[in-house]
Amino acid sequence: MANLKLSHIYKVYDNGHKAVNDFSIDIADREFIVFVGPSGCGKSTTLRMIAGLETITAGDLFIGDTLVNDMEPKDRDIAMVFQSYALYPHMTVYENMAFGLRNRKMPEAEIKERVLKAAKMLDIEEYLDRKPKEMSGGQRQRVALGRALVRDPKVFLLDEPLSNLDAKLRAAMRTEITALHKSLNTTFIYVTHDQVEAMTMGTRIVVMKLGYVQQIDTPMNLYNEPYNKFVAGFIGTPQMNFFDVRLKREGDQVKVIFSNNDTIMIPYEKVSKIHARYLNGDVPVTFGIRPEHIDLKKDGSGLKLIVTNVERLGNESNIHGKLGDHLGEFTMKDDGNNIIVKVIDRDDIEAGDIVYAEPNPNKVHFFDAETEVTLMNKIPPYNTGEAVLSGDTMELYGQKVPLPKVFKAAAGQAGSIELSIPPQAIVPGRDFRLQVGRIEKADDRQLAYLKNGDSYVFALVDDSVKEGDMYNFSLLNEKLGVSVRGNEVLKAVEDEVALTGTFSKTEVKENGSRVLHFFYNIGDYTLEAAPEHGYKINSIDGDSCYKNTYKYTVDRDKIRLVTGSEPGLSAHVKEQLDYGNVCFAKAEANGQEFLIKVDRELKDSDIRIAFDSRDVSVYSTSIELKLC
Ligand code: ADP
Repeated sequence: MANLKLSHIYKVYDNGHKAVNDFSIDIADREFIVFVGPSGCGKSTTLRMIAGLETITAGDLFIGDTLVNDMEPKDRDIAMVFQSYALYPHMTVYENMAFGLRNRKMPEAEIKERVLKAAKMLDIEEYLDRKPKEMSGGQRQRVALGRALVRDPKVFLLDEPLSNLDAKLRAAMRTEITALHKSLNTTFIYVTHDQVEAMTMGTRIVVMKLGYVQQIDTPMNLYNEPYNKFVAGFIGTPQMNFFDVRLKREGDQVKVIFSNNDTIMIPYEKVSKIHARYLNGDVPVTFGIRPEHIDLKKDGSGLKLIVTNVERLGNESNIHGKLGDHLGEFTMKDDGNNIIVKVIDRDDIEAGDIVYAEPNPNKVHFFDAETEVTLMNKIPPYNTGEAVLSGDTMELYGQKVPLPKVFKAAAGQAGSIELSIPPQAIVPGRDFRLQVGRIEKADDRQLAYLKNGDSYVFALVDDSVKEGDMYNFSLLNEKLGVSVRGNEVLKAVEDEVALTGTFSKTEVKENGSRVLHFFYNIGDYTLEAAPEHGYKINSIDGDSCYKNTYKYTVDRDKIRLVTGSEPGLSAHVKEQLDYGNVCFAKAEANGQEFLIKVDRELKDSDIRIAFDSRDVSVYSTSIELKLC
């Protein structure tokens, strides 16, 4: 039994190919985790790094509390089952299962006990004397499972174990492996490209694409709340339908305008998390609706479509159609008007029929047409507020409040500004007051829908806030973006400062032995690195680390001003930025500009800053990669 932690894991192959990027997950004891994604997305590479069959380029891998990056596979207490079974053909089933244990010099009596127990669990007791070639694919895969089982490992790793089996056997083995996991109470990590296996077996699923994790979630959350179009399309068969549309808000309805100018209406309440900037009828949006979430009517409202084909699967049928009322010239190319609807117990629809599709408004999905990221995030990334300026005040959400000096400078002559306000920037306070319309669980927080006219402002609130309450709040001005007539004039201040520098070492004799000390060099600041971080950078980049340039990032809150003889980075203050609630100095050091938090009374224009090396993250600049 074991939990695993993958922290910022990367794999760059010797040929420079980045197969896995910044993979992080905490896997609890006894979870059944599935890595799923199309061929080549990095699933096997990740699994093989966990097994120790592939080196980890950067990042930390823990099994239990032990860092195992450099631990031999045999010492990791894991067992791996491969697609190819990898059985020894000249050995019997018994010998195959006993082989690993014999290598470990386990007493024969205990080996026998373990093999018989595993054989019983896997229902292969009567084949123990057979050779693999005398068995079916399914039976061989059970032997491969048995060989892993007898080792009683902390973690089971399974790499596409069912892909050599026929469909019927696969379905049966799926259930058996799930049952095995339940009875063993061990952590399973399972790789597959088959979304049905992922959905039916995993307690949580990691969806990957081109070396990047797309979403980590439970099967139902992936199905109901896909983070992007890729996940939406990957999970579910037949695949989710996607259409290029535009959205226009009309009172309490939102009109979905298709490329053929057909429209459907959706109550605004169902899509209120979509940012207003997508609702003006101009911005291209991708509309997604699963085949099982569309109602087909013989007549009436909805999207008109012509049925091109009906696949009857018994009580269920997949109706294939084309939006509009004519087919045009036949082409296999998807012109964006294809639609699939899954219906149950309907035999009244034939190819050639004209029918009407009504998407279930509770099940609609919308994605940014460019980034393909959902527009219906559990926690919307930002709210908009139109602030009307006059003198040193601004009017926002019905209240007049002081206009931060930085906003005033950014606004220039403009009479109003648009603020991008992330929910995280809304904190209890007394500048603004809106009524809580609704409260929803969002991860481990509460998302409040604050009523602002006929729209909502989304805020994260604690348990004491209830629906119907008036919520008093202020804004963390430094976390807001400012735009004038659609053009961003001021970005939110990021939480981290990034500085570039180099890396060096010195070797000293301490008590007769040679000891290495490593340093981050940023301008005139030399900061000793934590030894384990120094060794890590050296082991990843080799001796070129002493010639490379690195990006060092540190939490802005962890930076302090220093005086006297304490080491620090000398910086010149170019200007002070007053946000009202907080003040920053725009400083320059070594040709780099950055912001640091300062007191309003700061008079010096020449300062020195310092931070603790353990608060520094180090990134390679040649390929984007977090080293530590
Ligand atoms: P998956 O298991 O998702 O099909 P893999 O983890 O096997 O994907 O491979 C991820 C990517 O890394 C692929 O593009 C593959 O071609 C590449 N790759 C795998 N092994 C090597 C290797 N030894 N050297 C270079 N590239 C590799």
